[in-house]
Amino acid sequence: MANISEVNGRTGSERPLAGQVALVTGGSRGIGKAIARKLSELGAAVSLCARDAKALEKAALELEGLGGRVYAHAADVTRAADVAALVRATEDNLGPITILVNNAGIGNPGFGPVQEKSEEDWNKVMNTNLKSVFLMSAAVAPLMIARGRGDIINISSLAGKNTFAGGALYCASKWGLQGLAGCMAEDLRGHGIRVSLICPGSVATDFSGRGPKDPRKVLSAEDVAHAVGMLATQGPQSFISEVALRPVTKP
Ligand code: NDP
Repeated sequence: MANISEVNGRTGSERPLAGQVALVTGGSRGIGKAIARKLSELGAAVSLCARDAKALEKAALELEGLGGRVYAHAADVTRAADVAALVRATEDNLGPITILVNNAGIGNPGFGPVQEKSEEDWNKVMNTNLKSVFLMSAAVAPLMIARGRGDIINISSLAGKNTFAGGALYCASKWGLQGLAGCMAEDLRGHGIRVSLICPGSVATDFSGRGPKDPRKVLSAEDVAHAVGMLATQGPQSFISEVALRPVTKP
């Protein structure tokens, strides 16, 4: 694969997102970092957020080193004030946001039987995986509406379509996300804004401190990033509303 510096030397359709600004939540590691890199390779300026400022800065420097235009802003996306500051600072530093990727999410403390979960666990998982998407989208949508365009891409999960033992809180948050995004899509499509969902199966990341997985049997973060790139570069008249993503090899 070409690196970003090589890609930056090209013109035209090889950098189809040139001039666009993407905001990726949870961009310091895992899937979010791979998405930021992919969108940067495709030509977008990229804004990243996460809570851990040090890890975020490291990821941003890495991306910058590959030639991308990057802005990093520490923020907790469960807090409305942080979200407002993040959106404002992104537009001040990079320009109008045209792509929002709601990626930040947690697994634990969402996993385990419901009778072992606390109200605090519920709030943490719901606030991170669901409320954050509401806050981010509600902050960015008016800006996109005013400009008559935009993509809001939500990283859900196959857990947003299925149920399994020990998945109650996590599945509830992702099923909620499916509903939220589906309704937002109907609210916003008349304004030229596409709201879509990507539902990956297991991905080889450090998600919630789970142990390493056999990378041959799961998706890679780059697979998910590729799907985000596909959605962001689809035809102007087309609206891919949902992508279910599975590894070729059955786990
Ligand atoms: P990681 O744990 O590797 O990364 C999560 C990212 O989100 C980090 O950058 C983290 O940074 C950030 N984050 C978490 N909470 C917040 C918050 N409150 N505010 C701002 N940033 C936050 O997870 P993955 O990359 O694996 O997962 C990304 C998304 O993909 C999640 O929505 C997840 O549900 C989904 N997904 C993951 C799958 C998997 O198997 N890995 C499968 C299907 C879907 P920090 O901690 O510093 O805030």
